[in-house]
Amino acid sequence: MELSQRITNITGGGSDGWDVFYKARRMIAEGTDVIELTIGEHDIRTDPIILSAMDISARGGHTGYAMVPGTQELREAVATRLAERTGVPTTYENILITPGGQSALFAAHLATCSPGTRALFIDPYYATYPGTIRSVGAEPVAIATHAENAFKPRAEDITSEAIKGASSLLVNTPNNPTGTIYERDTLQAIAQVCQEQDLWLISDEVYDTQVWEGAHLSPRALPGMAERTLVIGSMSKSHAMTGSRIGWIAAPKEVITHLINLATHTTYGVPGYIQDAAVFALAQGNPLEEEVAAPFRRRRKLASDILAAQSTVGLIPAQGAMYIMLDVRATGLSGEEFANSLLDTHHIATMPGESFGTSAHGHVRVAMTVADERFKQALQTLVDHAEVLASHKAS
Ligand code: PLP
Repeated sequence: MELSQRITNITGGGSDGWDVFYKARRMIAEGTDVIELTIGEHDIRTDPIILSAMDISARGGHTGYAMVPGTQELREAVATRLAERTGVPTTYENILITPGGQSALFAAHLATCSPGTRALFIDPYYATYPGTIRSVGAEPVAIATHAENAFKPRAEDITSEAIKGASSLLVNTPNNPTGTIYERDTLQAIAQVCQEQDLWLISDEVYDTQVWEGAHLSPRALPGMAERTLVIGSMSKSHAMTGSRIGWIAAPKEVITHLINLATHTTYGVPGYIQDAAVFALAQGNPLEEEVAAPFRRRRKLASDILAAQSTVGLIPAQGAMYIMLDVRATGLSGEEFANSLLDTHHIATMPGESFGTSAHGHVRVAMTVADERFKQALQTLVDHAEVLASHKAS
């Protein structure tokens, strides 16, 4: 008896590039004070007013099976939010509520990729992308990008070789891990490739409220794109609700009809009291979202100031999301070597760029998820460490 190839092959074998993260966790378990700048988890918890809404709903009896596609109220609230923010006419029939953005990513690929087809995504990438694609039986194909272009894809990066046999293209803006935001010309080039090559576009927009520079533009709003775009949304990042597991897919009505069948046979929906809390949270509008985003906005400024005062560590323009991507190539080390050396010497944990594919080698991603003073101190130490390494390299 054997397990299926699909389940045993989800990780694709080999190292997942998370060795530094696991080492930091081991050090913490052994009592070392490690500053963790690794994963995308807020240092604040879900706002108590959202928890109260959850409590009132649960005590009010909303603990049974909820409607599989999502409650009418939440589907409408999400549709209104998207219509207002993007200008694309959107109704509840365009929305499926999911247990978080991750399950939405899985469902979106299952809906658009038949077994054996290729699913494209941009490198560097959020760590689960290739595994999500493998888990639906499709072949993950990474599109390399370049630090010089702030890791934003150009039309010519999406080569005809990669596109052969492809069903979908997955993009993420504001971006994890790079902290960049795709401007209109980048998105237009992506839209053109999708239209010319008849690809579905899966647009991961879970960081849409964390915008420090410029504006978030959803590619679903570009001409001719609403009918071929599936938007992934989540309240994890916008409302510090990571543990509540609540997100959505916005897509053409016909796609949602099929996705409801999928939800019926997999998740069977999302708890009603979580959905009621989400309706309440969305009704608070921008002020609550800005409050949740504010610490990252502040720390991004602290980081920019520290980095502006030196020239060893490069900063990929940090336009959005809760991360900054730092170029440490001047030290002569790979991202992984640098992250290990920083962890061993100063007990500061960062994610090597190599954890996110091959394009961000020689970089480290810093999550801005610790209190301001500790963050500032950690970043200054990182810079000092890079300077020492670079001077050793030079001598
Ligand atoms: N997409 C990106 C780019 C992410 O960084 C994350 C989480 O870190 C997710 C999707 C999934 O988020 P969740 O499943 O918590 O909604």
